Amino acid sequence: MPQPASQPRHQSVLLGVFALCLGTTGCGRTTDHSSAVGDKDELLDSLQRAGYSPEHVQVFSDGTVLAEGDIAMSLDEAEAHGGSRFRHARTDLTVSDSIRQIYVSVGDMTSVPEEFRPDFRDYVVEGVRTALEEWNDLYLQFVFVRKDSDTPQDNDRIARIYIDSGTLACGVDAWARWPRVDEVTGKTIPGPRITLDFNQIDEDEMEDADWMKRLFMHEFGHTVGIRHVDRHRHTCEEDKDEGIGAGWNHIDGTPQYPNYDQDSVMTACPRDPLVARWSDGDKMALGNLYPCITNCSP
Ligand SMILES: [Zn+2]
Repeated sequence: MPQPASQPRHQSVLLGVFALCLGTTGCGRTTDHSSAVGDKDELLDSLQRAGYSPEHVQVFSDGTVLAEGDIAMSLDEAEAHGGSRFRHARTDLTVSDSIRQIYVSVGDMTSVPEEFRPDFRDYVVEGVRTALEEWNDLYLQFVFVRKDSDTPQDNDRIARIYIDSGTLACGVDAWARWPRVDEVTGKTIPGPRITLDFNQIDEDEMEDADWMKRLFMHEFGHTVGIRHVDRHRHTCEEDKDEGIGAGWNHIDGTPQYPNYDQDSVMTACPRDPLVARWSDGDKMALGNLYPCITNCSP
């Protein structure tokens, strides 16, 4: 696909916004998470979130953590207590178990210059198609269905996600929304929109089928409440903890710090080379969170 003449593309910096972006480069921090004691700052952060004052936490070289002067715990206990930054986690809200079909519509990409719109949309459609195959292969409670027509959905078994285009001030490739309560049905539905920025997704990415597939696998994960397993945020080239707004709940049975699942599709900072398939941790997380109830074949 040619470059737009008036808007030179630049290599995507893959920034994260509100915990909802996909990142593949620009992951500045390379903390060695294999060394538990080496992650003292992270541990202190997590204990602070659990309500401990970090000034009153001591970490000893043998791995003992002493909080508030006289509360001893192991590093693992402290991690479990505080909530690691590295684990499969879900938001507080998850999709209601009545939702059985999620219609996915690819919009007209109106923010893309007209001459590039059809090509861009074709890449998007193909990325969505391949990503949804991966999702539906998991046989979860819900099935994703590609459906561009505006079929009425006055039915609390059906939800809808629109894919459109737009731009954020500091530049991200794509962003999604968290699950939310539908005002009419009172059910929790997936985040209703995924937005792509044509000016951030570069040509190489667009033409890389695995890249596009992973992008949509990842963003659909956010729409149903899956957070980054590495809880990074890359906003305007700053590397930050994305925080625990919207909830930060460990998904039962899934790996967590220090053995968190670096192969997850839900990392903000994917491994290189990027792999567009579910990790074992992803399968476990999604299967535990959205188990098939009945007739879950696509
Ligand atoms: Zn993300």
